[in-house]
Amino acid sequence: MNDIINGLLKKKKTGNFRQQRNFVYLRWVALLLVIPLFFLVSDCPRTEKSFWITFSVAILYNGFQTLLILFKRPNGWVKKFISIAFYFDIMFICAFSYILNGIESDIYILIFFVISYYGIGKDVSSTINISIFSIILYTVSSIAVKADNIGELNFLKLIIRDFFILLVAYGVSMVILEVKKYDEMHQREFKLARTDKLTGLANRHMLDQKLEEEALYCEYSKKPLNVLMFDIDDFKKFNDTYGHIWGDKLLSLFGDIIKQSIRKTDMAFRYGGEEFMVLIRDLDLEKAKCVADRIRCQLEKQNLFSDEGHNMGKATVSCGIAQFPTHSDDIKKVVDYADRALYYAKKIGKNIVVSYDEIGKLTETVQINADTYLSK
Ligand code: GH3
Ligand code: MG
Ligand code: MG
Repeated sequence: MNDIINGLLKKKKTGNFRQQRNFVYLRWVALLLVIPLFFLVSDCPRTEKSFWITFSVAILYNGFQTLLILFKRPNGWVKKFISIAFYFDIMFICAFSYILNGIESDIYILIFFVISYYGIGKDVSSTINISIFSIILYTVSSIAVKADNIGELNFLKLIIRDFFILLVAYGVSMVILEVKKYDEMHQREFKLARTDKLTGLANRHMLDQKLEEEALYCEYSKKPLNVLMFDIDDFKKFNDTYGHIWGDKLLSLFGDIIKQSIRKTDMAFRYGGEEFMVLIRDLDLEKAKCVADRIRCQLEKQNLFSDEGHNMGKATVSCGIAQFPTHSDDIKKVVDYADRALYYAKKIGKNIVVSYDEIGKLTETVQINADTYLSK
């Protein structure tokens, strides 16, 4: 079940691909707005030729990136390119800077933008790598512009700009560390809020969330969903005889038995006090009954001993099963039907697994009036 909770958490993390897709939109904004603005307001030499070279190369590059992003599921070299595309952005900015007369141009400011966007989607070491790459490339392109007369290069200005790039990388790293701290705290709280402390299974809160989702999934995939409801037999008596601490230990033991008896794709919840629920996707009713019976047998087999070696005898469990959409296409009703089957299992002697179809059929003498149970 923790896998499912972790799965929910992972869903929230933005992948490299999504980050890159959003960045393509931002690149178009930068292209259509920022590059013309640089030419209009910055004090770099504004030759028409350099403007059109910059603009058309940027349009080609952006167009290429946009086409790649249109691949919904990138693979092979497309995926590889996407993962290093931010480095290409830096290369293009430095190339533009070279065309626009090196440090005379303000276009280097776009490097801040790329580092910030790239870094926040990644981690501190990636931020440091891309900023070192930027500093090297920006320095090389600025020196290359004045290659013929290096004495003309304003080294102080270049050092200050490189320092600014470092400063941005530092700021982004600080933000990353803060966000990471907050994210870890949030993940811990998210997990705690959805986990039952005693058994480590997911709790009722998580079940309410998962039930609807699972029903939707099964409706969409045309596969059944089995709802197994377990209730430990005579648990009150066990508590009264051995005390609540041992009662808790029995609950925890049963939680472990469930965890060990189900597949990764099945979901187990502590439904209430000594009630547990298991959701099993894509399995026919008979096989789901076998799983439930395996769990029931596992508990029955346990010899319960106290710390002093005192034999506490055996504990047993009853189970009711209903299936979605076989028994109803309303998941809440299916849960109710599993509950009725469980009630029937209790009535006919406990320590047994009963499916909704079997109500009234297993023992002729026992007649269940589910409505009586519901008003109980
Ligand atoms: P049945 O076989 O019909 O299910 O009988 P039962 O005694 O198991 O059921 P009943 O509903 O009468 O009693 C459930 C008991 O479970 C009562 C409550 O004190 C106990 N219980 C509920 N939650 C916990 C818990 O977290 N720890 C412990 N130790 N006991 C609990
Ligand atoms: Mg109960
Ligand atoms: Mg009980």
